[in-house]
Amino acid sequence: MTAIVLLGPPGAGKGTVAEALAGKGYTHVSTGDLLREQIRLETPLGLEAKANMDQGKFVPDKVVVGMIRSLLESADRGQKFLFDGFPRTLVQAEKFDELLLSLEGAIDGVILLECPAEVIVERLSGRRTCGKCGTVYHVKYNPPAMHNICDTEGCELIQRPDDNEETIKKRLEVYAERTAPLISYYKAKNLIHPINASRSIAEVRSAVLEQLG
Ligand SMILES: [Zn+2]
Repeated sequence: MTAIVLLGPPGAGKGTVAEALAGKGYTHVSTGDLLREQIRLETPLGLEAKANMDQGKFVPDKVVVGMIRSLLESADRGQKFLFDGFPRTLVQAEKFDELLLSLEGAIDGVILLECPAEVIVERLSGRRTCGKCGTVYHVKYNPPAMHNICDTEGCELIQRPDDNEETIKKRLEVYAERTAPLISYYKAKNLIHPINASRSIAEVRSAVLEQLG
């Protein structure tokens, strides 16, 4: 069992990397999706997670690790995973290592998507979405034919409330704060692969595959 951990700020193109690695046989594990599934099934872990989230708290490390444990224990020995959103704390990273060791697995590498804040702000604050068909545009890089109007639907495009500049900056700060200890942890283990994510989607994809594909 092998694992790749994906670290990167919102807007750095984690989806692109996940797609590229899915093509190489990696199963994409999103902790957000796992949590929603456990909550939907009302498992003990799901109920505990929900109780914390309802109070505006982070989901406790032992709940998150418990979820990952049950996923890995039921996986094939040869399976390859891409972890997105896990580990998120040092405790989670340490427990993850123990868990992999007990299953004779290992982390192949940690992809660190690096992208300057101003690039991310420009990417996300320029994003516009069609409420009807879900098409995503960008005011500068992928504009519709008519200003702020969906090409297919002809309706007005909307900006997601958390895509405004202030909120994006706040999200980037939270990301940097929470991720810094993980970066040091994996750097000390020589596992970090920094990827310049300010380039085009195609360039980011080939850089990732060159290093880890
Ligand atoms: Zn549309």
